[in-house]
Amino acid sequence: MSLALVLNSGSSSIKFQVVNPKNHATDAPLVSGLVEQIGEPTGSITLKYDGEKYVLKAPIPDHSAGLDLAFKLMDEHGCGIAQLDIVAVGHRVVHGGILFSQPQVITDEILGMVKDLIPLAPLHNPANIDGIEVAMKLLPDVPHIAVFDTGFYHSMPPAAALYAINKETAAEHGVRRYGFHGTSHEYVSQHVPALLGKDPDEVNQITLHLGNGASATAVRGGKAVDTSMGMTPLAGLVMGTRSGDIDPGIVFHLHRSAGMSIDEIDKLLNRDSGVKGISGVNDFRELGRLIEDEDPDAWLAYSIYIHQLRRYIGSYMIALGRVDAITFTAGVGENDAMVRADALANLGMYGIKIDPERNAIRASEAREISTDDSTVKVFVIPTNEELAIARYAVSLAGVE
Ligand code: AMP
Repeated sequence: MSLALVLNSGSSSIKFQVVNPKNHATDAPLVSGLVEQIGEPTGSITLKYDGEKYVLKAPIPDHSAGLDLAFKLMDEHGCGIAQLDIVAVGHRVVHGGILFSQPQVITDEILGMVKDLIPLAPLHNPANIDGIEVAMKLLPDVPHIAVFDTGFYHSMPPAAALYAINKETAAEHGVRRYGFHGTSHEYVSQHVPALLGKDPDEVNQITLHLGNGASATAVRGGKAVDTSMGMTPLAGLVMGTRSGDIDPGIVFHLHRSAGMSIDEIDKLLNRDSGVKGISGVNDFRELGRLIEDEDPDAWLAYSIYIHQLRRYIGSYMIALGRVDAITFTAGVGENDAMVRADALANLGMYGIKIDPERNAIRASEAREISTDDSTVKVFVIPTNEELAIARYAVSLAGVE
């Protein structure tokens, strides 16, 4: 069985999965795990294999040590890299700039180009590069493939991709909308034409990736035409800990009048804002419990979240002109019926009608939650970025 190892390396964590690219969306990966707290005094590695969960607690000084320990843990529990038929390694890379519209087999030249993009994604690309370099050392004999979060957005027209700021400054510093979560939006949007029984070229749709990070994308004929995340993943929808869109003047105000440093403002907007910044929690399960207890801040956070989400849905309906489908995905989108109902409440006059009973059903399968007479179909489609990356990896490695 040809398998792909899929790695998602963050600054202090590495998520790993061994995936059969022929899996269905809801099949569990053969192996999954998480290396956490890299660089901190305590670290942990969790491995899930064959229905069992194994945890190793140990200090993990860097990514190299983390991946090494993860591979050793896999060896110990009968799912070692050498025992599995791993034919390719797929790496999630956050920023591909304007250079990469498609996944790439990683060569020295490609890696150099990803390094050149670090100024655009200083929080993300260095960790991705660490993961690639470590994995290439540990697994030198299989092709490594980079799959870019930004790739799906190369098709965006200039009106959506460019900001109305000084043209020369923008060009010199790479300031434009790149979009993120592209692998997820592409993956779920590709399922929709078959569910509608329509030719993919003829489908206009809105995809809503609502997880801890959140984004909305407008897709026409399989191509992204607009998206809510911007030059960085901070823009757009209200997220678990990120503010989403704010007036850029707020940054000047906090710096000049409140005396906050740029790093402090960066942390405020990325980690201490969004739903958490208002309610104190970023997990929607906890937020739901607080709302049930009539906590006013939880309700306020939820209201702002929904208001912003509806703004984007409305603007993409106008941008697309005609919408065939709206799809919810990711942790909140797949599980939170109240968010889905409120996001699309009272839009019957635009042909969007959610069926409350269908919406309430909990399932791991792709499903329709609109009424039979809703002219815009509403779906919940589980995303599976690792499966999408595994498929790209095996296909580019030429070993399908
Ligand atoms: P993701 O980033 O796609 O992994 O989504 C993670 C987020 O999904 C969590 O922080 C929760 O807010 C949310 N989530 C996960 N499960 C549920 C659930 N059963 N109900 C509501 N929200 C959920």
